[in-house]
Amino acid sequence: MTPNSQTIKTDILLVGAGVIGSGVAMHLGQLGRPAPGDIRVIDFDLEGSLSSSELNAGGVRGTWSQPVNVKMARLTIDWLAENAEAAGYRDVGYLWLKTPESMPAALVERDRQIESGWPVEAWDVAELKKRVPFIDKTADLAGAIFGPRDGLVNPNGVKNLLRERARASGVVFDDRSLLKAAERDESGGWLLKVERYPAQISDSDRLAVLSGGQSSVTPQTVYYQAKRVVNCAGPWAAGVAKILGYESPVYPTRRQISVFDSRGLESPKFGMIVDTSGVYFHPEATHILAGFANNNEPHGIRYDYDGEGFFTESIWAPLYERASVFENLKHVTGWAGQYEVSPDESAVIGEVSAPGFHVRAFEAHSFSGHGVMHAYAAGLALAELMLKGRYLTIDAGMLSGARFATGALVRETAII
Ligand SMILES: Cc1cc2nc3c(=O)[nH]c(=O)nc-3n(C[C@H](O)[C@H](O)[C@H](O)COP(=O)(O)OP(=O)(O)OC[C@H]3O[C@@H](n4cnc5c(N)ncnc54)[C@H](O)[C@@H]3O)c2cc1C
Repeated sequence: MTPNSQTIKTDILLVGAGVIGSGVAMHLGQLGRPAPGDIRVIDFDLEGSLSSSELNAGGVRGTWSQPVNVKMARLTIDWLAENAEAAGYRDVGYLWLKTPESMPAALVERDRQIESGWPVEAWDVAELKKRVPFIDKTADLAGAIFGPRDGLVNPNGVKNLLRERARASGVVFDDRSLLKAAERDESGGWLLKVERYPAQISDSDRLAVLSGGQSSVTPQTVYYQAKRVVNCAGPWAAGVAKILGYESPVYPTRRQISVFDSRGLESPKFGMIVDTSGVYFHPEATHILAGFANNNEPHGIRYDYDGEGFFTESIWAPLYERASVFENLKHVTGWAGQYEVSPDESAVIGEVSAPGFHVRAFEAHSFSGHGVMHAYAAGLALAELMLKGRYLTIDAGMLSGARFATGALVRETAII
């Protein structure tokens, strides 16, 4: 690759502008006060119609098993609460239904969360019936755990707020720009080959390009020169790592969501409810949104939604076992998005330090299904590392991708 007179020069280039790339960009902008163009973010699709940031369930909670995940979630929720209107944050709570087998450990966990400063309530079945009367099939339950500060956000609102603030501090976002190749240039930085696509592109071409397939559109090639590069490519992070010259053991996997109409529950008013079956659900406008993680799902990007079959088998059947009002449900729509998973289900954040890798590259990806609720804090942590040379607010050192080689895993168990 040879730079030419049109090569775009920048100090920091971020790849991926989902909620994570936008969060890192905002903090880099606010901490670094760059001249316009010194920090740039490229994304093939800024609108993000196939991104995880667009296709998720919008839940936020401060209850995690790993202290670093607890800190990142709570700092993010504090920020969401300060920006509640733009972020669509509502503290409607997370309610976890518990069986006699799972309740004792949940109570120990509840005490640990309270000790660390987060409100969590334990309800017996009588309290559950009083607070959420439509849950009437409780014979298999011992009670529930309720986090009143947890809740729901509008993920698109969160991403746009982060981006808007990034732009206001001088960060430039380049749309329809797909990283294709990278090499080290003679100044010790990066020379990056990027394909620039036209603004108008069909859904099938969008999918083909992001899947590495053939599209009907011919892109223009542009080059970027950057001193530092940041991999924020979400489900595509392992591919971007490969382009940058290192291996990352992270992978995408499909997760499906159904939206349905529940005639028995008019104007439902509750937050996120996590059933003992693993089905989670919450009101979504006048409907209910529900998801279920099939842990046998193969690795790899898949956007096909199994429709009525998934809804009936994985959502409706367990929900009807929980509440009589769920007898008459009408499937409205649904979709498949990607969880971006790491081997220990904690995120990968830090400077890339793979063996034989000596070029300045950073990464923030693979939040394993919890990126929206960690985005603000993860962005702050990485921006501090990059601009101040060390973690100041949150020590995310243990989340470095180097842990997969040393075996110092940060196994997160509070996963849905
Ligand atoms: C069904 C489902 C439910 C979920 N529920 C929740 C929840 O309730 N709460 C929560 O906090 N999280 C949830 N998540 C997880 C959350 O959505 C993700 O962790 C988060 O959105 C990840 O954001 P990201 O920015 O890393 O990735 P993305 O949003 O996917 O962004 C990555 C971006 O990189 C771009 N890109 C990729 N490759 C390239 C390239 N070569 N060049 C340029 N650009 C590139 C893509 O276009 C994309 O815009 C859920 C996810 C799913 C799928």
